[in-house]
Amino acid sequence: MTELIRHWIAGKSADADPQRTGEVFDPATGQVTKRVAFAAESDVDAAVTAAAEALKSWRRASLAKRSNVLFAFRELLNQRKGELAEIITAEHGKVVSDAAGEVQRGLENVEYACGIPNLLKGGFSENASTSVDVHSVRQPVGVVGVISPFNFPAMVPLWFVPGAIACGNAVVLKPSEKDPSAANFIAGLWQEAGLPDGVFNVVHGDKVAVDALLAHPVVKAVSFVGSTPVARYVYETGTGNGKRVQALGGAKNHMVVLPDADLDLAADAAVSAGFGSAGERCMAISAVVAVDPVGDELVAKIAERMAKLSVGDGRRGCDMGPLVTAAHRDRVTSYVDAGVEAGAELVVDGRGVRVDGGDDGFWLGPTLFDRVGTDMSIYTDEIFGPVLSVLRVPSYDSAIEVLNNNPYGNGTAVFTTNGGAARQFSEEVEVGMVGVNVPIPVPVSYYSFGGWKDSLFGDAHAYGPDGVQFYTRTKVITTRWPDPSHGGVNLGFPQNS
Ligand code: NAD
Repeated sequence: MTELIRHWIAGKSADADPQRTGEVFDPATGQVTKRVAFAAESDVDAAVTAAAEALKSWRRASLAKRSNVLFAFRELLNQRKGELAEIITAEHGKVVSDAAGEVQRGLENVEYACGIPNLLKGGFSENASTSVDVHSVRQPVGVVGVISPFNFPAMVPLWFVPGAIACGNAVVLKPSEKDPSAANFIAGLWQEAGLPDGVFNVVHGDKVAVDALLAHPVVKAVSFVGSTPVARYVYETGTGNGKRVQALGGAKNHMVVLPDADLDLAADAAVSAGFGSAGERCMAISAVVAVDPVGDELVAKIAERMAKLSVGDGRRGCDMGPLVTAAHRDRVTSYVDAGVEAGAELVVDGRGVRVDGGDDGFWLGPTLFDRVGTDMSIYTDEIFGPVLSVLRVPSYDSAIEVLNNNPYGNGTAVFTTNGGAARQFSEEVEVGMVGVNVPIPVPVSYYSFGGWKDSLFGDAHAYGPDGVQFYTRTKVITTRWPDPSHGGVNLGFPQNS
């Protein structure tokens, strides 16, 4: 019997037999290893109801109690991060060292949330009017829904969940159905850390579960990460139902290489950021914009490095693993076919790659196109696979024009040795996260993560200060302790004196 991954509601596995289930694969072997329950509306309602019940006391838990739980969770996660990385690799396919890296970045968000007593400090103004004081507090929004994508099954939930819980909310997480086990592992750690049952719940499933969360009147805020069409849908539906929504979408991240750049550094960065996690990262570099005359030399250096990459089972010490599913691998391969047909120059062909892994794994090797046009589908679409496109442009101005005309605005990088050029680029580029000689500029936990344009719908970025703001409502309290001499009715509008 294949193991069934169940929902986690009110501190235990939900034992109702699911009507619908999905297959979970090991992408390196192509075998089905588990099945996952797909929630019905009633399962989501049970999770939200459990969260609402737990919220009653959790929202009133002292800051000391909340930060104690966060610290304990941080210790457990740190102790068991190796196990979590193995779980991720077995369902996602990324190499174990990369999976460990994602857990480490998630840990940073837990550490940020440990400082919640400081982060939730309000303001106070003495004598705003004579003998009248004003102070502000931040209170939890209530039950929060978190919906996450397949490509970071631990890190993306950890962007949101620790902050939401630290702020006094209760959470229902709907992870990706492609790699659902990490969420249940994390749920167990929360319980062991002393989080009261029901403050963190997991429902597995597909659109049915997402729609139920978006429609549920008790859910007050939704944090979503996924592709742009779904992000837009989640934002419009959730806000239409009166919820606070932040919905992070897809990306096409450009790396601009200026003529004065260190080309070895740039080539290392293009290969690392293009093919790490098989390109299945929202901050992956998928387009290299080579400003004349660096094109020939840069492409040669990138191809030289690609020839040394090993592809295979993520547990065997390879550089790059398989894609997440056969369907996704086929979709990415069809883009390679389309690029050839459109006339781009195929410098390295990842189709038919030799791998250190199972015959039925979901393989596609690193692929490089040169002389890609902005009208080709390999450029216009988010491919989300190991396909790197080089565009050649004559000048800095034309590079900026390419980037700012692209509908996505998640991350970008400029490679240069000229500080003035880097500064100008940072100022002019319409992208939310910019790296200067840094290819994947994921902000540290005490800043916030978020793109512009079609890469984010909503006003708040993820985690950091924006996260605290998103998961709280401010309240301003105006206070007077009347002295015995005061009295009298006054119907005029209150003025400060
Ligand atoms: P996806 O949009 O297919 O799925 C994301 C989540 O939405 C999953 O939980 C899924 O079950 C659910 N979902 C899927 N289709 C739905 C529908 N029609 N209605 C309602 N819910 C639906 O994304 P994915 O393939 O899991 O993840 C890859 C995408 O996520 C890429 O586009 C990538 O760029 C993006 N991503 C963005 C960021 C970011 O920070 N901007 C981070 C990671 C991933």
